[in-house]
Amino acid sequence: MTTESPLESSYDIVIIGGAIMGASTAWNLTEQGFDGRVLVVERDPTYEFASTTHTNSCMRQQFSTALNVQISQYAADFVNNIRERMGGDERVPELAVQSFGYMYLADSEGFADVLRRNVQVQNNAGAATQLMSAEEIKATYPFYNVDDVLLGSINRINEGYWDGNAVFQWWRRQSRERGVEYVENEVVAINHAGQRVVSVVLASGEVISCGQVVNATGPRAAKTAEMVGITLPIEPRKRFSWVFKADKPLDQDLPLTVDPSGVHFRENGGGTYQAGGHTELDPAAEFDDFNMEHSLWEEHIWPTIATRVPQFEAIKVISEWTGHYAMNTLDQNAIVGPHTEVENFHFINGFSGHGLQQSPAMGRGLAEYLTHGGYRSLDLSALGYERIALGKAYVEDAVI
Ligand SMILES: Cc1cc2nc3c(=O)[nH]c(=O)nc-3n(C[C@H](O)[C@H](O)[C@H](O)COP(=O)(O)OP(=O)(O)OC[C@H]3O[C@@H](n4cnc5c(N)ncnc54)[C@H](O)[C@@H]3O)c2cc1C
Repeated sequence: MTTESPLESSYDIVIIGGAIMGASTAWNLTEQGFDGRVLVVERDPTYEFASTTHTNSCMRQQFSTALNVQISQYAADFVNNIRERMGGDERVPELAVQSFGYMYLADSEGFADVLRRNVQVQNNAGAATQLMSAEEIKATYPFYNVDDVLLGSINRINEGYWDGNAVFQWWRRQSRERGVEYVENEVVAINHAGQRVVSVVLASGEVISCGQVVNATGPRAAKTAEMVGITLPIEPRKRFSWVFKADKPLDQDLPLTVDPSGVHFRENGGGTYQAGGHTELDPAAEFDDFNMEHSLWEEHIWPTIATRVPQFEAIKVISEWTGHYAMNTLDQNAIVGPHTEVENFHFINGFSGHGLQQSPAMGRGLAEYLTHGGYRSLDLSALGYERIALGKAYVEDAVI
């Protein structure tokens, strides 16, 4: 790693980690009119191993809590109106959510009940999710094998692929232009006195004083929190992705299909499709372990896909990679806002596989908190650290 020195020795806010959560927080601070100095420290500006690079880049409204539905609704609004939301900057491309929908499939009465309950929550929050019987699914999507399906749910509005990388790059670029400083370096220690963080120590040896610190370190969030003596229930979990080409592509868009087995696969354009899954045991991964689990495709993923869509009997993998979820083992939900005791240490962590779509609302919320001392638009306090300290789960059960 090469290291860059910050221009100053003191900042009002130091953000550790400059991928999508760090960049969203930084950009939203400029939007909120925060007038202090902001430094973003990123250990790897190529982002080769960041979750942000390995993502599936999809959004959905199908969550089990109203708050997570609202968080995604804001993401859709932001993406569909990005140029306007970014100050009418003509360089910013117009984007849209490619709404092929997520198709959740239930093969048991227990899971069908979960879908019924979740759809109620989503509809009450204004999302357009609908339940579909096996017959209705077959009539609309004739390519599915629905022999074992009892019920499905899908929402074709603001649910599907969006260009997360474009949003990330524009947040970085605009925040830089507005005065946020990004440096290539690593935070290796955090000095604290009493209940306050006072400075961060960089790999290059510099000690940078700071008023507030933001932990935006993705799967390494617990390691960063440990520097302040804080325990976080977050660990890296390996998630495998494959892009495959079908000999006989479907003649309509494939929704992001969440098979009852947990395997998921979706439309990727041009006769290609993207699939994802994990090993059955799903242990915590080493931070630097991005090795592929080669037998998984042959033994589990491909047979599952070919059973669900018989037309995918003849397919060819064209690329594959391993990424890490920052899994919150308490309740699979984000942890955002200040620590309960070290009040100038803030979290934006634990997204458990649904963080990309949460980045607009989470960055905005945290920037509101840092600028004004409280949430102004969407109240994110249910996702705060207090529940972690109390061991009180705020469960999101629609996790893929
Ligand atoms: C395979 C896969 C598929 C996914 N699909 C989706 C999806 O479809 N939809 C969705 O919403 N979400 C999805 N996600 C989740 C989403 O990608 C993540 O929640 C999101 O990218 C998290 O961003 P982040 O900035 O918190 O973490 P990261 O992108 O991991 O960034 C953390 C950054 O912190 C830096 N860092 C760490 N420690 C230090 C340090 N001490 N000093 C300096 N820098 C440091 C790292 O180098 C890294 O760049 C998926 C994730 C994976 C792995």
